[in-house]
Amino acid sequence: MSSSFAKELEVAQLAVQRATILTKRVFHNSAKGTVSKDDASPVTVGDFGAQALIIAALQANFPGDKIVAEEESDTLRSNAALRDQIWDLVRTTALDDAAAEALLGGAVKDADAMLDLIGLGNSKGGASGRIWAIDPIDGTKGFLRGGQYAVCLALMVDGDVKVGVLGCPNLPVDDAAPLTADIGTDQTDEGGSRGVIFSAVLGQGASSRPLGTGALAEGKPIAMKPITEMAAASFCESVEAGHSNQGESAQIAQKLGITRPSVRMDSQAKYGSIARGAGDIYLRLPTSKTYQEKIWDHAAGDLIVREAGGQVTDTTGSRLDFSVGRTLAANRGVIAAPAAVHGQVLKAVQEVLGQAAS
Ligand code: AMP
Ligand code: MG
Repeated sequence: MSSSFAKELEVAQLAVQRATILTKRVFHNSAKGTVSKDDASPVTVGDFGAQALIIAALQANFPGDKIVAEEESDTLRSNAALRDQIWDLVRTTALDDAAAEALLGGAVKDADAMLDLIGLGNSKGGASGRIWAIDPIDGTKGFLRGGQYAVCLALMVDGDVKVGVLGCPNLPVDDAAPLTADIGTDQTDEGGSRGVIFSAVLGQGASSRPLGTGALAEGKPIAMKPITEMAAASFCESVEAGHSNQGESAQIAQKLGITRPSVRMDSQAKYGSIARGAGDIYLRLPTSKTYQEKIWDHAAGDLIVREAGGQVTDTTGSRLDFSVGRTLAANRGVIAAPAAVHGQVLKAVQEVLGQAAS
């Protein structure tokens, strides 16, 4: 069997692009107030709709593969109004052009078939076989506030990430655009001068391309920016203080001599942003002793950063281990940085976290 993963990459990018278009439609419909009072939250509608579209594309092209996806279909089965609202959206987004029909290969037939597709995302994950990880809307708070969110898809083979794709509709297209302090809010535009797809295949590098509507736009290779001076480095972290310890990250930045304030944005857009050199370092520091990171929140971003010249580990210095189930049960937090400085960043992280523990 070929290990170039060309077809997997193509299908994954088209599926993510189509699902991202669906989420944009949901956002703009709700912003315009064309959603009736009885309609469900745009996050719920966008999440289920995007997951249905992506699984439809995977089923049509790789029917034997397993899927780990964030959303479960149970709530939809007992809510016919919600199911019909989502079906209407999926149907119109899935069948609005010939390219989409070819991608989905007739996998989206009716509302019940859609529920079955959504329910296919219930794999337990693990260390053997081909398993796709899907986060249909990563960064739901960012989605709602018109900030950053990402549609995330990755293929693992025997527990190792081989293909990763992120659709980031509210990031600038330009890889060189520096991260501004307001990147986490009010970044939507209906016309579409924003929006990027990041992708990587293991051993083949990472790339970005503008988010389009039909065929894939042309891609360009991306690479992390070498950090020549730590003082000028920028580091990214979650907007949500409950997802990453912002007090500790400020101490780590200070220890490293970083003078710029952190750039806060939701979702795996952080991984994409550092992979293309718009930012430098991504820190995710545990806020609880029991929380286990979910594989769909990291699989695509981990590969994209590593293929762009970065190193990604947890706070103990171990690589993220995607082979142990639906969560990263063997890991604690995330540190992503250019390979040349990762050791220095890890040391500062451990000094600060060590103090916190003692
Ligand atoms: P971010 O946008 O980077 O803050 O990450 C969003 C993701 O954080 C969501 O998809 C959740 O799966 C995940 N999440 C939820 N609770 C926590 C937590 N306590 N610590 C870390 N991540 C969390
Ligand atoms: Mg998520």
